[in-house]
Amino acid sequence: MTTPDPLVIRHLEYLGPMATRDGWRPEITLPEIAFVGRSNVGKSSLLNTLMRRKAFARVSTTPGRTREIHFFDVNRQFVLADLPGYGYARISKARKAEWRPLIEGYLSESPTLRGVVQLLDVRHDPTEDDLVMMDFLAEVGVPTIVAITKTDKLKPREAVERVQALCARLGLDPDQVVSFSARTGAGRDELASALMALLAAPDWRLDDNGEETEGAGDDA
Ligand code: GDP
Repeated sequence: MTTPDPLVIRHLEYLGPMATRDGWRPEITLPEIAFVGRSNVGKSSLLNTLMRRKAFARVSTTPGRTREIHFFDVNRQFVLADLPGYGYARISKARKAEWRPLIEGYLSESPTLRGVVQLLDVRHDPTEDDLVMMDFLAEVGVPTIVAITKTDKLKPREAVERVQALCARLGLDPDQVVSFSARTGAGRDELASALMALLAAPDWRLDDNGEETEGAGDDA
């Protein structure tokens, strides 16, 4: 007997791009899940595998569109936000200064953001930019899953050891971490289940009384 697919894609619709912190974004109705990672980490490939589409994330890699946040409606159940890949060495400081406020503004201000998937390449230690991003996510307090990409590039045993080392280095709970390969599809259903769990969890911005929290400890 095969396990049922935790995320069957029945409807997938591109909603549009957000180009600046104060720019257009889709109407705030559905819960949102954001995907972040440095350029080339395998984000488009992961999204295509997750959505079971060959070129679903293509818009994000079109020239001129790579610095925008791209939104997709998935099954009219949630909005997937594909954030610009960060940390390209050849991006000038001025360009960085443009899109950092976009990424950070979106993550800290989106009222329906339910979770973030941070991508890391199994073969590489986290970059300075990865660490800045992970610190930022921790500061915001948004639930975060770490997807370790391209695990097929290592021998299975090596991949397991690398994932363990990354967890130890970053202080991650193994429950937060999904090993993933777009090449083999390994980890696809596990990641889909983790997204469903994020969507089912109570809104992290609200306390037990349904009131908006101002940050940890403020309501003591
Ligand atoms: P993005 O810039 O983060 O969107 O990364 P891409 O998805 O475009 O992938 C960057 C490169 O890594 C491409 O050459 C992909 O073919 C390759 N890649 C991505 N995911 C995997 C994977 O799971 N396994 C292998 N072997 N290569 C991958």
